Amino acid sequence: MKITVIGSGYVGLVSGVCFADFGHSVTCVDKDAAKIAALQSGIIPIYEPGLDQIVLANVEAGRLQFTTALANAVAEVDVIFIAVGTPARRGDGHADLTYVYDVAREIAPLITRFTVVVTKSTVPVGTGDEVERLIRSVNPEADVAVVSNPEFLREGAAIADFKHPDRVVVGLQDERARSVMAEVYRPLNLNSSPLLFTSRRSAELIKYGANAFLAMKITFINEMASLCEVAGGDVQEVARGMGLDRRIGEKFLNAGPGFGGSCFPKDTQALVQMGREHASPMRLVEATVDVNVARKGAMAKRVIAACGGSVAGRTIGVLGLTFKPETDDMRDAPSLDIIAGLEAAGAHVRAYDPKGMAAARPLLPNVTLVDTAYEVADGASAVVLVTEWNEFRALDLAQLKSRMSDGLLVDLRNVYREADVTKHGLGYLGLGKPRRLP
Ligand code: NAD
Repeated sequence: MKITVIGSGYVGLVSGVCFADFGHSVTCVDKDAAKIAALQSGIIPIYEPGLDQIVLANVEAGRLQFTTALANAVAEVDVIFIAVGTPARRGDGHADLTYVYDVAREIAPLITRFTVVVTKSTVPVGTGDEVERLIRSVNPEADVAVVSNPEFLREGAAIADFKHPDRVVVGLQDERARSVMAEVYRPLNLNSSPLLFTSRRSAELIKYGANAFLAMKITFINEMASLCEVAGGDVQEVARGMGLDRRIGEKFLNAGPGFGGSCFPKDTQALVQMGREHASPMRLVEATVDVNVARKGAMAKRVIAACGGSVAGRTIGVLGLTFKPETDDMRDAPSLDIIAGLEAAGAHVRAYDPKGMAAARPLLPNVTLVDTAYEVADGASAVVLVTEWNEFRALDLAQLKSRMSDGLLVDLRNVYREADVTKHGLGYLGLGKPRRLP
């Protein structure tokens, strides 16, 4: 099949590259000339484990190319995927569909034969109808079937997720698209990944339903962690006891500093807006958004309290900046709220992240970014573990302590056990544990 993917970010690039690896002939388009130039010269603009080898192999095999020239890329293809960003609109949290609609208008005059146009971006219910309307309004002759095929990959495990998905959801209104989409995903038959055909609106809602449900699960265990702290439980024991119930499941039950990232914050907000627009409020999701915002804000206060009530003029070390491990993505990362809170209270922050430094630098102009995990501890009153990268799981705690002015580890991911930390003379504060401040 000849496939064009428009938008070569985290989702578009991984999708395009994996489609090429399936054996399709793929053109990845982006309007960001620097991104395309990098890709053309073999430089991958994002950190995603394993992506570089698979790009190289498919470029060499002649199945994958990169361009900014939409006109050449769209003519005579079987399928066009739209994988541009849908960030939260400033002010109201509605999904900003400007980029999606721009693409619809741009491709419309270029379509010369039957083409399946697929929205892979996460878009509110009804967007497929509007994409179809826009294409036809620009080019009434365009023979298109507009499909919703939301993406569920996780950054950091994107290739494995794309090639071994729990399911592929395809929402369509025009039956001609069914066999085309089945052919696009045929290589996944070998993995027995279910291809779930639904209506277009159901597919759009499935994506928001899944993300909001997971965000709600995280938020639930975060509130349980807070309750544990005052009621005397241990949230890790509680989560394990809950998660072993197969109706609940163990995943997404790790207490943390509040969810961040490129999807959950904006997708929960967008679902809240959808509920309001359709006069069918999503009250659980509204609460999830509010609780999560409050939690992210509370984390700096937690560190300040653990430091005796003030961090003015003191140094705080931060381990991990990206919103989760194995990505360089800084969008809505909890580290940004935590560092802002610490800086507002007069602290000087030293920070390190294994892969996120380049993306973090412009966002954190007052932070001293250092080259190793241990350097964050130099002169620090406390070190805060924010993102649970593997390299932070077995730190030499004696060395960490020896570099600090006072010795406190605030572990916002419960990576360490208190006894293993305190034996090195470090104070320890985890999440959802009975409170015993040093
Ligand atoms: P991104 O910001 O990394 O990439 C979007 C790309 O689209 C950018 O490179 C931008 O330059 C390009 N673009 C914008 N307008 C364009 C146009 N008119 N022509 C060509 N290129 C254009 O975004 P992302 O993280 O890949 O997310 C894309 C969509 O996928 C969003 O709707 C998101 O919600 C969804 N999604 C993301 C993830 C994830 O983990 N990042 C997972 C599932 C779904």
